[in-house]
Amino acid sequence: MPVEVVMPKLGLTMTEGLIVEWKKKEGDEVKKGDVLFVLETEKVTYDVEAPQDGVLGKVLVQEQETVPVGTVVGYLLMPGEKADAIVAAPAAPRADAAPAASAAPAARAPRKPAGEKVKLTIIGGGTGGYPAAIRAARLGAEVTLIEKDLLGGVCLNWGCIPTKALLQTAGVIKAMKSSDLFGISCKGYDINFKTVMDRKSAVSSQLTKGVKGLLGAKKVKVIKGTASLVDKRTVQIAETGEKIVSDAILIAIGSKPIVLPIDGIDGPDVMDSNAVLSMETLPKSVVIIGGGVISCEFAQILSSMGCGVTILELMPTILPGMDKDISAILHKEMEASGIKIFTDAKVKKIQHKKKGENIVTYELGGKELTAHAEKVLATVGRKPDLEALNLDKVGIACEKGAIVVNEHMETNVEGIYAAGDVVGGIMLAHLATAEAECAARNIVGQDWTMNYRVVPSCIYTDPEIASVGLSEDEARKVADIQVGTFPFRGNGKAMVLGKTEGMVKVIADKKYGEILGVHIIGPHATDMIAEAVLGMNLEMTAEELAHAIHPHPTLTEAIMEAGQTLSGGCIHMP
Ligand SMILES: Cc1cc2nc3c(=O)[nH]c(=O)nc-3n(C[C@H](O)[C@H](O)[C@H](O)COP(=O)(O)OP(=O)(O)OC[C@H]3O[C@@H](n4cnc5c(N)ncnc54)[C@H](O)[C@@H]3O)c2cc1C
Repeated sequence: MPVEVVMPKLGLTMTEGLIVEWKKKEGDEVKKGDVLFVLETEKVTYDVEAPQDGVLGKVLVQEQETVPVGTVVGYLLMPGEKADAIVAAPAAPRADAAPAASAAPAARAPRKPAGEKVKLTIIGGGTGGYPAAIRAARLGAEVTLIEKDLLGGVCLNWGCIPTKALLQTAGVIKAMKSSDLFGISCKGYDINFKTVMDRKSAVSSQLTKGVKGLLGAKKVKVIKGTASLVDKRTVQIAETGEKIVSDAILIAIGSKPIVLPIDGIDGPDVMDSNAVLSMETLPKSVVIIGGGVISCEFAQILSSMGCGVTILELMPTILPGMDKDISAILHKEMEASGIKIFTDAKVKKIQHKKKGENIVTYELGGKELTAHAEKVLATVGRKPDLEALNLDKVGIACEKGAIVVNEHMETNVEGIYAAGDVVGGIMLAHLATAEAECAARNIVGQDWTMNYRVVPSCIYTDPEIASVGLSEDEARKVADIQVGTFPFRGNGKAMVLGKTEGMVKVIADKKYGEILGVHIIGPHATDMIAEAVLGMNLEMTAEELAHAIHPHPTLTEAIMEAGQTLSGGCIHMP
């Protein structure tokens, strides 16, 4: 089949390109990598290369014409094909050129005549729902927010915040254990588990109260109850029967843990993350099924307080999907701290012998092995929680258990939007907020689209991990790349802190130096990644990073020096 040659998208802000010159003409043979045409945008002039060998069969867009990104500008014929094999559509952008996930484009919510407020109902008061309520109210909408449980959702009550509060306790314990290094001899310590858990809960409830105050200040009507859809403009509260009619609805109901079909998974000592956060006593030992982000954070929390932890991960590495060098460093650090990790381990069954005595059987390298523990924690991911909503009643399209939305965060039903964990994909609090705010803006009549190119993700283990953009493996598949690394052992501030483990990795396109990904493992990685986020949003090159003057002594100098390794070499490594 003839291969389409399209106007590429070279950067976040590029929407169209001018064809300056065709370097090949119809009928010319081309080899993969030959320059087909030169394009020009507001920012760059770029040689577009042939994606594979062939013959340039047809040119659809002529020199000096400007066309949107994604437009088919010509066709390459494969060996044996004739020009009449091309059934060329008129030059128009391809649907898949859109930068974000897209469903069938739906019309926008009806705007109110000037002076009339848009009425918006939001289902779910988590990190998607509550910022959307505040944003929409700031933009003049009349907002009702329905929450069945606690404002702040998983993030403030059962996720980001409580786990980080407990990791802070783990950090204090580690600091005490290593205090000799700083000349302070610490003669042991006692852990008051109740105080640890109370502090965690106090941080959550202070934030949740803050959310309530913010919503009140913006006159958002908050209803406690379980909402479902009656029709495309009406929501009903199950507990009271109350019906709310509005101009638009935003669904932000989040997700729930995936429960694996493992024999014994419903046993009395098997916990999910909520159960761990509600524990009244620290177990002596825990087997954690799954080696993802949540598992690794809990492993360090529990292990730091003296609980024996074993992780069983099905994939060949912990943190599957993460840059391999980075996950290998964390693996080594966790094992050094006494956490047992088995990868390629398939859990077969969990046997509950008696209270606090459980045997987890798993397969590893063709052998059946067992791990014994007081408790079992199963954290193998989360999935959207759609059951109570009545989505079928209004015909909202779902795919792989998640609500489908277009780049405006609107579902296939006009006026109904969805955001956060409920739309699947990357499930992170800051992404939920970004998506929900995008929806809120569109609902009040603005025109916003989501872009998923620069979404940071962070892991709050010790050492911390943070990344944005493509991993090295992903980048190699799509571009000719260069990789610069800089270890924290070459950074003065890291030595001051006594935390020299880890490194920064910068991945850049070879031709123009544009940064495609940044990965950090080391102290304060989760704060430092914001520099890379901002830079990548502005299409920063490695050279620009290398030449930006960074303050001294700071950990951020390691990011600059990783950039310098791609731009003439760094200073503090041979
Ligand atoms: C242990 C753990 C740690 C995490 N750590 C991090 C982290 O460090 N950083 C990060 O970015 N992300 C983290 N996450 C993920 C993050 O919490 C979620 O991505 C985020 O909360 C999603 O926000 P949301 O608004 O889509 O959903 P949620 O926060 O789940 O909010 C949805 C809300 O809707 C309510 N609701 C559901 N159905 C209805 C209904 N029918 N009617 C009314 N209300 C309803 C729920 O009660 C809930 O309050 C973590 C998750 C877990 C489980």
